[in-house]
Amino acid sequence: MSLQVRSQVSLKPFNSFGVDVQARLFAEAHSDADVREALAYGLQHKVPVLVIGGGSNLLLTADIDALVLRMATRGIRVLSDDGNKVVIEAEAGEPWHPFVQHTLALGLSGLENLSLIPGTVGAAPMQNIGAYGVEIKDVFAGLTALDRQSGELRDFTLQACNFAYRDSLFKQEPGRWLILRVRFVLDRSAHLHLEYGPVRQRLTEQGIEHPTASDVSQAICSIRNEKLPDPAVLGNAGSFFKNPLVSAALAERLKGEYPDLVAYAQPDGQMKLAAGWLIERAGWKGFREADAGVHKLQALVLVNYGSASGLQLLDLAQRIQKDIFERFHVELEMEPNRY
Ligand code: FAD
Ligand code: NAP
Repeated sequence: MSLQVRSQVSLKPFNSFGVDVQARLFAEAHSDADVREALAYGLQHKVPVLVIGGGSNLLLTADIDALVLRMATRGIRVLSDDGNKVVIEAEAGEPWHPFVQHTLALGLSGLENLSLIPGTVGAAPMQNIGAYGVEIKDVFAGLTALDRQSGELRDFTLQACNFAYRDSLFKQEPGRWLILRVRFVLDRSAHLHLEYGPVRQRLTEQGIEHPTASDVSQAICSIRNEKLPDPAVLGNAGSFFKNPLVSAALAERLKGEYPDLVAYAQPDGQMKLAAGWLIERAGWKGFREADAGVHKLQALVLVNYGSASGLQLLDLAQRIQKDIFERFHVELEMEPNRY
């Protein structure tokens, strides 16, 4: 019996918003056996089990009447290497950014645009994490998850995961799949994605004409460090809203009214609006009420200046949603998982 179950544990250190709620029970899983033991404990004591990773995509609005199981499994292994393509597997509890750095140190490219995203490997497929024009679906080779309904292990192919913009099967079936390990197919030769936002510009400023994957990673880290608050300093969960997809007709109408509207055409004909632009245009950037606020540099990020509760952050988010709908007829969907 290696699982240590503790009672009444503050989750403040375990969510990047730094919201102070209590978990009725708390444990860390260091192995598959711990995971199974925690699920058995939950069944035996009739208490639900909530799995978390780094807590960087959570909004906790009340004490959690559950066994909170933090994934802390470790291990990275190369499964195959044909001299060009390398399949690499990491355990769910591996911290994401150090894993990305590890792949870069091995001379592998594919994950560089996803540098500095907080959280764990196991949570990455949940919302198909993405940044600077790359999503994990682009380099995904498979994953192994435990079906909490049947207790059986299942291997998922790319097609089976239903990946979409900040979405996946695992998000669509909440609480069913416990992701144990994830596999990525990476490249020995770099196929870099530099077209997004300020990435190429930053490399040019640095005098780098022919970047390596590590150069791209460093450029993205420097851009992110300038713009995004560090959760260790200022509580936040990254982008609080997804970028809304709207019809071309609505985007056209809004563009008529707001010529500087930021909108990107999608392959299916829809337009993706920059939610941060809408929120900033509506005057929320830098807003603060008590300790809940909208970040001064990036309007898409809600922040906790210290003692904001999850409900105060939720209330602020709902007021922003209502205002954006009234002004632009656009519905903003919250990104963090709410408990
Ligand atoms: P958690 O917040 O702990 O959990 C998220 C959800 O996944 C919860 O529903 C949880 O129950 C579930 N879960 C966690 N682990 C498992 C598992 N092993 N099996 C099954 N379910 C599980 N996201 C992006 O997509 N792109 C970005 O660029 C980005 N930038 C960010 C920047 C900042 C500063 C912050 C704070 C967040 C950012 N995020 C970004 C959001 C977040 O980092 C990612 O969504 C990340 O993958 C969450 O990982 P986590 O381990 O912290 O998950
Ligand atoms: P940004 O560069 O200011 O751009 C604003 C938005 O426009 C982004 O959200 C992005 O959408 C979209 N965009 C920019 N260039 C684009 C292009 N060439 N084609 C299509 N869409 C484009 O964004 P940012 O806030 O600094 O974030 C940079 C990247 O990191 C983005 O990809 C963002 O998603 C990611 N990020 C995510 C989180 C999170 O918590 N989810 C937090 C921080 C940063 P997309 O978001 O769809 O890419």
